[in-house]
Amino acid sequence: MMSEARYKAANKYLQEMAKLMNLSHFDVYLERAYTDTVDGVSVAASSKADTNISSIAVRLSTTFFESNGFSDLSEDQRNTICHELVHAHVDLMVLHTYRNATIRDLVGSQVFAMFEETGNNVMEQMVNQISNGWATSLPLPPRFPK
Ligand SMILES: [Zn+2]
Repeated sequence: MMSEARYKAANKYLQEMAKLMNLSHFDVYLERAYTDTVDGVSVAASSKADTNISSIAVRLSTTFFESNGFSDLSEDQRNTICHELVHAHVDLMVLHTYRNATIRDLVGSQVFAMFEETGNNVMEQMVNQISNGWATSLPLPPRFPK
């Protein structure tokens, strides 16, 4: 669990970024628990939109707060938050296409699994392209407390 001071600072930055990224129609939540892996893969952060696409919950990993020794920590943090928030813009399309249960039932789960894997990979590339371009025009985060 994040310390109260860290949570407050990270949430303040997340809300500021959401506003600057045209997400004022979204409720953006930061979860207090750390998430270091998703489906067994290490991640800096993850996010999940609700099925109405009106809110998104963002989770940060412990590594989000640590320098990797190669790149600038605050730039990495800005990229990560920007990436997760671009997901909020894209999730409507995702839920109506390759995560749509009706389509899965129509095409069968084997075909759907291929469709889902490709869709996911292409979507992540697209989110990266958008967020890499967008992040540089957004403010860097403060130094987050322990
Ligand atoms: Zn992503």
